Amino acid sequence: MKRLIFPLALLALCGCRTVPISGRTQLMLSSQGDENALGAQAFGEVRQKIPASKNAAQNQSLARVGAALKNVTPDQGFVWEFVVLDNNEANAFCLPGGRIGVYSGLFSFVDNDAELAVVVAHEIAHAIARHGGERMSWSLLQTLGLWGLSYGTESETLLVLYGAATDVGVLLPFSRSNEREADNIGLTLTARAGYDPNAALHFWQKFGGGRGQSAIEVFLSTHPGGAERIEELKKAMPEAVAEYQRAANKKGFGNALR
Ligand SMILES: [Zn+2]
Repeated sequence: MKRLIFPLALLALCGCRTVPISGRTQLMLSSQGDENALGAQAFGEVRQKIPASKNAAQNQSLARVGAALKNVTPDQGFVWEFVVLDNNEANAFCLPGGRIGVYSGLFSFVDNDAELAVVVAHEIAHAIARHGGERMSWSLLQTLGLWGLSYGTESETLLVLYGAATDVGVLLPFSRSNEREADNIGLTLTARAGYDPNAALHFWQKFGGGRGQSAIEVFLSTHPGGAERIEELKKAMPEAVAEYQRAANKKGFGNALR
């Protein structure tokens, strides 16, 4: 494994990155290459544990949505892979480097392609914003602060982070601000891909209504803040609708799934 830590003197020069689409400046001390390699490894482990779904309608929906979103996502050298995993939980994840898993249980809450696009675009947003690497960078900085300037390590911290992630089924809870950024970037991508962004409100409003409570709890454990989230989405909606109006290939809510 390559050395992960830059000497502290270099932090000021190469420790920051600009998040695509949102334009926010973030702390970034890990290398994208290391993150991508670990993402690929973790995805392999998940694929060994959880079989792919054989549900043709769900697979085709994810293939359509994945292709449309991939086309409008800024190229960062990611290898995009979209797989429906046969698991009753309602959830989805994106590993660093662009591997996306959607649990088949999520389709109980998805009425059409556009709503699936909302979820997948949100996960894509976490990946291109490199929220996992950012969080790890902050914990590294804390470690460096605690251990002193000469602390140099292999990428153990990254391994521990993603190792722990695979142990709990790859579901990394992100901070509220990361979630908000992923919602906003995701909304932009959904609209640019030609899906009506109002699908985001339709999708998230279902999680306030008590439908399939246990599945909702799983989803909300990694995607908190129902009411607040909907208010934020409503604020972002005019810009997303304008983005949708500019999209070349408008699909409305796309294919119905029920
Ligand atoms: Zn999220």
